[in-house]
Amino acid sequence: AEELHIVGGGMAGSEAAWQAANMGVRVVLHEMRPKVGTFAHQTGLLGEMVCSNSFRSDDDEQNAVGLLHWEMRAANGLIMQMADRHRLPAGGALAVDREPFAQSVTDALTAHPNIRLSYGEITELPAQGQWIIATGPLTSSALGQAIAAETGAEALAFFDAIAPIVYFDSIDMSKAWMQSRYDKGDTEEERTAYLNCPMDRAQYEAFIDALLAAEKTEFREGETAGYFDGCLPIEVMAERGRETLRFGPMKPVGLTNPHQPEVKPYAVVQLRRDNKLGTLYNIVGFQTKMKYGAQADVFKSIPGLEDAKFARLGGIHRNTFLNAPTLLDGQMRLRSRPNIRFAGQITGVEGYVESAAMGLLAGRLAAQEMLGYPLETPPDCTATGALITHITGGAEAKTFQPMNVNFGLFPPVEGLKGGRRGRKDRYKAYTDRAKVAWQAWLGDGALDAA
Ligand code: FAD
Repeated sequence: AEELHIVGGGMAGSEAAWQAANMGVRVVLHEMRPKVGTFAHQTGLLGEMVCSNSFRSDDDEQNAVGLLHWEMRAANGLIMQMADRHRLPAGGALAVDREPFAQSVTDALTAHPNIRLSYGEITELPAQGQWIIATGPLTSSALGQAIAAETGAEALAFFDAIAPIVYFDSIDMSKAWMQSRYDKGDTEEERTAYLNCPMDRAQYEAFIDALLAAEKTEFREGETAGYFDGCLPIEVMAERGRETLRFGPMKPVGLTNPHQPEVKPYAVVQLRRDNKLGTLYNIVGFQTKMKYGAQADVFKSIPGLEDAKFARLGGIHRNTFLNAPTLLDGQMRLRSRPNIRFAGQITGVEGYVESAAMGLLAGRLAAQEMLGYPLETPPDCTATGALITHITGGAEAKTFQPMNVNFGLFPPVEGLKGGRRGRKDRYKAYTDRAKVAWQAWLGDGALDAA
């Protein structure tokens, strides 16, 4: 029978191999470490956590990442099984003992009768056979070049420059307003693409001071080598001159504040709609290396964002990722070469958990297709389905940046109270709905394959 080749034995590739092998497909898992390393990995183990040892919140009723844990457990996920086995006390978060965790992932895959490990770097995109590429944010440069040759250079990024993303329902619209600069745009959708937050002079000066004072993270050694092509963090722009931002992303031109039409704002922070649902807005041009705690403080000083809830905070990292909305179909296949799937962080999700989830999905989709029982993409009311729907269709292709799982990606549950007060009930309703749908989706796969 045909073998499934999986490239990369990280969070995604390990999970994909486990899922496909458990469905009865023979898998060859290619991993370049320890022969070829990256600037972040330290070992030759599969499933190595490159930085923090946390899988974040384990709350499957009030947190979207906790829901993703739940979905992976329900699907017999390897990463979750080993994380649970090597769990460390950490309150509501799922922290793990990283070395035994990665060792147990490696052992489970090595021992699996349907999996063969092949150590070595893959440098070309394979012309035939069934493949999953899960080489992660630090994909080797030879393979990165091969991918770029196929997709076009502009469709493969080597850095992310992530502007913070805010939940629309946490923005104070008695201060902010919707308007595109110079009222550009012909359609309603274009005209509602932008939200504006005004600042007077004192607010702007205080904002610049806060930016300059905030704690920042540094690039890691080797991280920028040969790659970083200058997408300036907002605080670096502020360092170049106190007025730089006012003539850059915060320029106040072409906008009129309907709450105070007679007062010309001194500066304006613009937010752009980040998904088709209109539940998420990103702060335009505000990529940053400020630490997370500092970001929340600084951005909440923006008028209208005092109570902002962030779906994700900003960052700039070395990160190889595809423009998934244009390149991948809902089955995670490369449109131009459907024998190749992508999985993990390289698809434009962000985080260990999201990457493992995209591995789980790719492994199942590939295996079922090979067995002759193709599987539907999971519905977008599940956490896994919401992520894949976002990256392959819901996100704006032109401004695509990697995404964490969050409830803003879920279709709204009808008939519930909006705003802050209804939030707890709303999240519970999202997770209840997701669990039922996820079980049904898992059941469909099992039925077809039986
Ligand atoms: P990886 O886990 O990186 O796995 C990819 C694998 O492919 C690696 O084992 C690599 O050696 C292998 N590979 C690469 N190229 C080739 C090739 N050509 N041939 C064969 N094998 C190849 N996320 C978090 O949730 N928390 C964090 O704290 C965190 N910190 C991060 C720190 C850094 C420095 C980076 C770069 C990322 C971080 N991430 C973090 C983001 C991301 O979630 C993790 O990188 C995650 O491991 C991604 O999973 P993955 O399976 O897609 O990639």
